[in-house]
Amino acid sequence: MPRVILHLDLDAFFCSVEEIQNPALRGQPFAVGGKPDERGVVASCSYAARAFGVRSAMPMSRALRLCRNLIIVPGRHKLYREHSEKVMEKLRGLTPLVEQISIDEAFLDLSDIQANKTRLALDLQRIIQTELNLPSSVGIASNKLVAKIATEVGKKSSKKKNEPPFGFTVVPAGDEAKFLAPLPADMLWGVGPKTNARLAELGIHTIGDIAAWPQKELIHLFGENGRELWNHANGVDNRPIVTEYETKSVSQETTFSVDIRDEKTLLKTLREQARDVARQLGAFKFCRIKQPTARHPIGG
Ligand SMILES: [Mg+2]
Repeated sequence: MPRVILHLDLDAFFCSVEEIQNPALRGQPFAVGGKPDERGVVASCSYAARAFGVRSAMPMSRALRLCRNLIIVPGRHKLYREHSEKVMEKLRGLTPLVEQISIDEAFLDLSDIQANKTRLALDLQRIIQTELNLPSSVGIASNKLVAKIATEVGKKSSKKKNEPPFGFTVVPAGDEAKFLAPLPADMLWGVGPKTNARLAELGIHTIGDIAAWPQKELIHLFGENGRELWNHANGVDNRPIVTEYETKSVSQETTFSVDIRDEKTLLKTLREQARDVARQLGAFKFCRIKQPTARHPIGG
């Protein structure tokens, strides 16, 4: 039996939360992020701002040049985490097989739920909108890779102007390769700018082009990654839903608003960071580290 994996991604999540706090922002071009004169970047931008070409991860100064009337809203990450937790609670209410992959994204394994999965997913999307005021896009497929790409495709093909896409895309089992074939190669996980350039040199532009290439050749060109690339291009991805993660690293970062060359200041910052990382590591002594649990083993 093929699995049924749902991928859910909240639409312009930080902005949606800010609109809950301040409804006057609705329909306005605004961006959540740091100030332009302090090297701020866009963490999230409203759909009205996107119409001007504003995008996430863009320097705020550039965003302002693209959209003169852009409203800048400072980020409130504690608030976003609280809203995110409410969404995850709703998801876990449906199944314990939830893998949260970022603050606003998760995979669910719906395989064992006895119900019409599409109906269930539509209800879930509607409830998150009506009860939590958060728009989202959904992709459903037989594996994580195709489900996530389905969400992206749904978002991109939205014709709605100045409002969230509310994407909803279902890829029936058996149609994975056909669905992926016309999409650009770099929509596949693992195809970064370097691999993409190498593929383009070979005349490979779409995912279908990769799938049509002999697997042996791809392994010859890209090593073991070539094998995975071919599998993914053919819509094959057996990774299970992982419900618990072991923390592998902790870190701390500081962005200076202006370039700092003063050694004293740099050392002071470094010491503060080291102290913070040590504190985080100390906290782990009291945590029980759990093994990942999964219902569907690889290859199952
Ligand atoms: Mg999102």
